[in-house]
Amino acid sequence: MPGPTLQLKPVQPLSSRKSENRRLSDKHGREIHYLRVSLTDACNLRCVYCMPEHMKFRPQSENISLAEYRRLLPLFHALGFDKFRFTGGEPTLHPQLTELIAETAALPGAPFVALTTNGMLLPKLARPLKTAGLRRVNISLDTLDPARFRQMSRRDGLDAVLRGLDAAEAAGLEIKLNAVTVRNFNEEDFVPLARFSLDRPWQVRFLEMMPFGNNEHFQNGQRVEEDSVKARIEAALGKLEPVGNGLDGEARVYRVPGAKGTVGFISPVSAPFCGDCNRARLTADGKLRLCLLKDDEVDLLTPLRKGADNAALENIVRAGIWEKPWGHELAFRRFSHNRGMSEIGG
Ligand code: SAM
Ligand code: SF4
Repeated sequence: MPGPTLQLKPVQPLSSRKSENRRLSDKHGREIHYLRVSLTDACNLRCVYCMPEHMKFRPQSENISLAEYRRLLPLFHALGFDKFRFTGGEPTLHPQLTELIAETAALPGAPFVALTTNGMLLPKLARPLKTAGLRRVNISLDTLDPARFRQMSRRDGLDAVLRGLDAAEAAGLEIKLNAVTVRNFNEEDFVPLARFSLDRPWQVRFLEMMPFGNNEHFQNGQRVEEDSVKARIEAALGKLEPVGNGLDGEARVYRVPGAKGTVGFISPVSAPFCGDCNRARLTADGKLRLCLLKDDEVDLLTPLRKGADNAALENIVRAGIWEKPWGHELAFRRFSHNRGMSEIGG
C-alpha cells in the first residue's frame, strides 16, 4: 500500500558547509547522504518479525526498472549521497543486482556500496558482487540451529546462509552479521552468534525488534531488552569492553576481551538514534521514504514516468529531504501502517 503523499514546501538551499557542500540537509539540520535502496519487496524467506506467512508481492512492472535506476541513482549521487545500501525484500533476487552495484560503485568519488541480504544466494553471488565493487555485506542470521531457523524464517536455509557467509569471507568482503532478537525464539543463539566475533574480524549485531502497525502485537510483545542480551553474552564470554567511543553508526559497539571482531547492539525502540539520522530510503516502487518508522513518502517514479527532467526530480528530492520527520513516535504508540519491513528494507 503506498504511503501518503507529502505536501512539498519550497526547495531548500543546498547545505552551506564548504567541505561537503553538495550534501542535502533537512530542516532539523541533519545532513542526509546515505540512501538505502530496496530493490524488491519479494523474498525467499518469510521471517516472522518481518512479514506475514502469506505475503503477496508486487508485480515487477510496478517497480523501478534498470533504466529508471540509471536515472535515479546518479541523481541522488549528484545531490551528495555518498553511501548506498541495496536491500529488499531480498536484493539478491533482483536479476540486475550486479550491474546496479557496479554502476553505483563506479560513480565519481567511488561511493561506499553495501548490501543487506539473508545470504542464501551468496554462495554464487559473493565473488561477482565483490568484483563489481561491493565493499560490505550485512548478512542476517538469527540462529545457528536448523529447526529454529525454520521456525523464524518459515523456510529451510541455514546451510545455504552458512555457505554464503563462507563465500563472502573468501571473496574478501567486509562482513557484519545481523541477528534480530526475539523472545522465545532465539535467546539460546545469542552466545553462539557472539562467538563468531572471537576469531573473525566481523561485527555481530543484535537488533531490537521494531514494531509496524500490521504486526505490532508480536513485535512489541516478543522484544528482548538489550541488557538481557548483553548479560547472556557477558556471562558466557566475559565483560564486554566498549570499542573506541562506543559507537559505529547506529550500533553501540563492544569487544569480548581479546576478540578479533566486535559485538554491536542496535536498539531503535529503547535507545533511538534519530538525532544522528543521515538516511533516506528509496522503495522498490519508487517512493522516497523519509523515516523507516513513519509513513511519510514522496513519489519519484510517477513523475519520472510522466517525463520529469532531472532538475524537476532533484527538486522533488530536495523538498522531500527538507521535510524529513524528526524521528519516530513509538513511545506514543504511533506506528507506521503503510508498509512492513520487507517493503522498506531496514
Ligand atoms: N532480506 C534481507 C535481509 O534479511 O537481510 C534484507 C531486507 S531485511 C528487511 C533487512 C534487515 O531488517 C534484516 O537484518 C532483518 O533481520 C531486519 N528486520 C526485519 N524485520 C525487522 C523488525 N521488525 N525489527 C528489526 N529488524 C527487522
Ligand atoms: Fe526476507 Fe529479509 Fe524479511 Fe527475512 S528479514 S523475510 S529475509 S526480507
